[in-house]
Amino acid sequence: MNPFALKGKVALVTGGNGGIGLGIARGLARAGAAVAIAGRNPAKNAAAAAALGDGALGLLADVNDAAQVRRMVADTVKAFGGLDILVANAGINIRKPPQDYSGAEWRQIVDTNLTSVFECCQAAYPEMKRRGGGKIVTIGSMTSIFGFDVGPVYAATKGAVVQLTKSLASAWAKDNIQVNSILPGFIDTDLTQGARRNIPGMSERVVSRTPARRWGEPADLAGTAVFFCSRASDFVTGTALPVDGGFSSSMF
Ligand code: NDP
Repeated sequence: MNPFALKGKVALVTGGNGGIGLGIARGLARAGAAVAIAGRNPAKNAAAAAALGDGALGLLADVNDAAQVRRMVADTVKAFGGLDILVANAGINIRKPPQDYSGAEWRQIVDTNLTSVFECCQAAYPEMKRRGGGKIVTIGSMTSIFGFDVGPVYAATKGAVVQLTKSLASAWAKDNIQVNSILPGFIDTDLTQGARRNIPGMSERVVSRTPARRWGEPADLAGTAVFFCSRASDFVTGTALPVDGGFSSSMF
């Protein structure tokens, strides 16, 4: 038996219509899972579902709205008969120095990157319990480990996501639900493209600071996600695994 096989499993990936989420969704689909992806942009949802093929489901949902989160889970269960895997990936950043944030900006980032992760996990829990177990993957960041001068709110949420992950892992181990976090290094997506364009030398600095000497691609996250979503990780829970080309292991 292939311990990484996901045939017969149902996965839901928030923010799965692009970037890291789509890279992970592709990995889960390739491993055999039925995949639903959710995002706010209908055109991106449709394109991603078509790219995933094989009956993949594109769901319109804003994870900042608890009712939409509950509906997103219910629609996945309705379409595929249950829910085994949740990847709570949707996230945003607003880059600026700490003194320049408005209260609304603080709340927007905290709502999207932290509160929504908790609410997605809460919505998925009863469905996983009903199935006799499940897998939840949260997405942290290098800023779960390091400070971020122009992303203090983002860093606060990504640090908190790791602590939330450990708490959910402890609480739900008895239900055979494993909860782990992936901490991506610098990955080439829409989120980082803006910064690469606007900050001179940033792209090169990332390459020279990363021992692997390159930016990551969304596909680089797929293998770790499949591991965390498969039988191979049944005794692994509450962990935070960097997928960063060595960034967090290296001083320079
Ligand atoms: P992208 O901007 O490429 O993708 C973000 C995704 O989140 C999109 O699919 C977007 O869909 C979705 N999303 C954003 N807000 C909402 C919302 N309110 N409701 C539903 N969906 C939403 O970013 P990345 O792929 O780079 O980032 C994915 C995750 O990885 C984030 O949590 C990010 O913090 C994290 N990360 C990224 C790193 C990187 O270097 N790229 C490094 C470390 C962590 P839509 O447009 O349809 O709303």
